[in-house]
Order: sequence, then C-alpha cells, then structure tokens
Amino acid sequence: MGRSSLRAWLLVVSVLFAAAVVGGIAITTYIIVADGMQGVAADATQRMATSASTVVRDALSEAEVAASAQGFAGTPRAQIALGTVLTRLPSLLGRPGVAEADCALYSATGEPIWSTAPTGLWPGMGALRNQAAAADKITLSTAQPGGMLSGLLRQAKLAVRVVHVPIVLPDGTTGVLDVTYRPVTEERVIDAVRAPMAALAISAFFIMVLLMQTSMAWVLSLVDTLRRAADSIEAGQLDARLPEAGTNEISALAHSINRLIERLQRRSDAQARFVADASHELATPVAGIRGYTSILRAWGAEDPKVRDEAVDAIDRESRRMARLTGDLLNLLHADQGLVLKTERFDVNALVRDRLAATASRWIDKDIDYIGPEDEDALVMSGDPDRVEDIVSILLDNASKYTRAGGQVTVKTKRRREMVVLEVSDTGQGIPPDDLPRIFDRFFRSEASRAAGEGGFGLGLAIAKSIVDSMGGEVEVQSEVDKGTTFIVRVPRGRL
Ligand code: ADP
Repeated sequence: MGRSSLRAWLLVVSVLFAAAVVGGIAITTYIIVADGMQGVAADATQRMATSASTVVRDALSEAEVAASAQGFAGTPRAQIALGTVLTRLPSLLGRPGVAEADCALYSATGEPIWSTAPTGLWPGMGALRNQAAAADKITLSTAQPGGMLSGLLRQAKLAVRVVHVPIVLPDGTTGVLDVTYRPVTEERVIDAVRAPMAALAISAFFIMVLLMQTSMAWVLSLVDTLRRAADSIEAGQLDARLPEAGTNEISALAHSINRLIERLQRRSDAQARFVADASHELATPVAGIRGYTSILRAWGAEDPKVRDEAVDAIDRESRRMARLTGDLLNLLHADQGLVLKTERFDVNALVRDRLAATASRWIDKDIDYIGPEDEDALVMSGDPDRVEDIVSILLDNASKYTRAGGQVTVKTKRRREMVVLEVSDTGQGIPPDDLPRIFDRFFRSEASRAAGEGGFGLGLAIAKSIVDSMGGEVEVQSEVDKGTTFIVRVPRGRL
C-alpha cells in the first residue's frame, strides 16, 4: 500500500469511526429524550382522563339531584339533567389541569352527545368505545401511532392515546367519555433539542476526525522521517543515522535500527579492510613471481645459476600464495559458520600427536616440547579436526616466536562442562600494546615483521573464529621476553 493510500485509508477509518461513535451517542440521547417525553404525555393523558371523568360524573349527579328537586321524574328528568350538564361542561372542563385535554361524550348508541372538538373526537373508535361500555371498564387505545426515530430528522410525532371512560347517563344507559391529550408541548421539547443536538454531534464528529487525523499525521510524519533516513542509508550512506529524539515507540525503533546500521557499518568496514589487506598480501608474492619471471626471461637461458635461483624463488612465492589463499579460505569458512562434526575423541591423544608433528617440523630449533602430564584420556564430544586446527596454530606460533633451546608446554584439563587447553612458550612475548590486536586479521607485531617470521597475521584470527563457532573462548597472557600462554576453553559436549 502506498503512502498516500495509507493516508486515505486512515482518513476513511477515522471518518467511519467518528460517525459511528457520534451517531451512536446522538441516536441514544434522542431515544432517551423521546421515550421520556412519550412517558410524560402518557401520564398527562391518564391524569386528565381521571379528572375529566370525575368532573362529568359529579356534574351529572348534581344535575339529576337538581332536576328531582324541581319535581321532574322519568324521561323528562333525564333529559333536563343531561341538558343542564351539557351546557355546563365547557366551563367545567375548561378548568386548569383538564383544559389541555380533548373530551367527547358519546351516548350508549355511539352518537356524539357533546365534544370539545368541532368534528367530534376520533369517530372511528366506535367499536373500542362499545367494548369499554360493555365491560364497564376504563380502557386505553392508541389514536395515532408515533414514530420513535422519525423526530431525528423531521418534526417529532409522539403517539396520541385515548382513554375511554364508561359513564352512566341520567337515562340509565352507559355512555362513554373519550379523553385524549395531544402531546404538542412534549413534541416541541423534542424539536427544540434536535437542532442543538445535531450541531453538537456535527462539531463532535469534526473534532474527532481532526484529532485522529492530527495524531495519525504526526505518527506518519515520524515514519516518513524514518523512511527518508532509511532511503539515504539504502543509497549507501552507512554513516547516516535515524533521528532518535523523544521517548516514544518510534524513537525506540529508530534506536534499534541505528544499532543495526552501526553493526552493518562495522562489518562492512571490516570486510573492506579485509579485502584491502588480502589484496595487499597477495600483491607481494605476485610481484615477486613477476620479477623473477622477467629475470628468467632475460638471463635464464645464459646463466644456469640465475635460472635455478629464479625458479626457486618463484616456487617459494607461489607456495606462499598457496598458503595465504588456504588461510583466507579457512577464515572465510570459519566466518560463514563451520559445519561441526560431533565425535567422541581423546583431547590428550590429539595434543600429543600435534606436539610430535610440530617437533618434527621445528626440529632445527631444538625446542623442548612438553605434553599433557595426564596420562588418562580427556574425552570430549566435538569436531576433532577443528580442535586440531586450533592446537596446530597455537603450537606453530609458540615455536615460531620462541628462540632455539626454549620450551613449549601444553596442558589440558576439565573445568566443569569445558575442556581447557593451555599452550605456553618461553618466547619473546607480546608487547602489552599489541595484546588487544593479536586476534585481528592481518595483524603482526613489529617484532615479528622485523624478524621476518613469514606469517600473514591470520593464524590467530582463524583460531579465534573456530573457537567462537564452537561456542568457546580464547584468552592470552604474555610477558615480554618471558613467554606467552594461550588459554582455550571449549564446551566438552554431550558424551
Ligand atoms: P602470524 O602468522 O603473524 O603468526 P598470527 O595471527 O598467528 O599471525 O599472530 C599474530 C601476531 O601475534 C603475530 O604476528 C605475533 O606478533 C603475535 N603472536 C602470536 N603468537 C605469539 C606467541 N606465541 N609469542 C609471541 N607473539 C605471538
């Protein structure tokens, strides 16, 4: 996904999220308000119905008593009583607490006798009224259904309820008083709430989107800075670093990436140095071979002595090259992670074997080689070839840097789960300044260069690389003109 599409996607997500949250809150608030208002209207209807029916019943009985007192009886009394009541009803029902209600009185046959509404009240409810009269029970019905959510967008419309109250008329029949209340005030409350609520919801929506966009833009700008820095690193500027300001997760990421780049830079520098050193070392024998080849061409045919010398020198230089390329290959393999064998073998036997080989190689120097004191086997599980490489390198160095008549000693022991090999000599020692660098590739001390011992400065680097890949460690102790001790610790392995 491209950067701009990520931004667009985040915008869509934040808009949808804000719409869902704000819309949800707005709808819930509206439903709570509308439901409350509907409840208020229902209560008002009930209250007014009770009051209105009491007013009508009281008026009827008063009128009947008055008509009787005047000596009327039977049908005339009923007619006079009803007539009196009907003329008095507007003033009786116009009193506060009942005035907001619409009332209509129906006869037992369903005819409207009197109504506050000019066209009569809810003419279509005859059946429901009859039921109420027949059961002689106050019943409630819905005259006009309301729309709970319609008020969100249009004018609010609450349900209108009608209370049917059976009333015994002066002629003994049961009429019905319909009382209803139109919840205009409650609907107005809802309508009044709608506009500010919408304004509030819209502002909340935009504020939310703005806040989310601002914070996302901030995060994206940090990521963008990282990307730009990473691009310049990709373009080969390994010395570039990502900005690490702040203590947030992005700066922690930048910190980790910077450490990674530093490691890469160190490795790349080391590789460049290694290639330069290797080329330099290879250049010396190549130059020698070329020089002697020219001599051979010029004078080889005439002077057999010159020819023999040149051939010897070419042979010597090419052997040196072969040794160097062999060392370089060993180092490369050790660097790439050696595939190590796991065999059980006796370290003491291996060391004795190497001591004998080294002694025969350096026979001219008359060095005293002292092997492991322990006659018993020191068994370990690992790669005997690699251990042999390490011992050979250390014994060769010890022989190389020890004067004739000196002593080279190898001690072996077991320390917990490790096998410890100590190779000591009574040689020239290593100056303290050189000690930290002797495991570096191509490092050779001035003394050994001057003495022309002929190494490439790769032996210890190879030995250390092998020890590292075995999960061990190597340490050196040395005193100038007294001697040097290399201590190698490698895991004994599972036996
Ligand atoms: P080289 O081929 O020069 O011996 P190494 O990597 O084996 O390369 O050793 C690096 C340097 O460490 C040597 O040039 C030498 O100066 C020093 N060194 C190694 N072993 C010994 C030793 N036993 N005594 C004195 N110096 C040593």
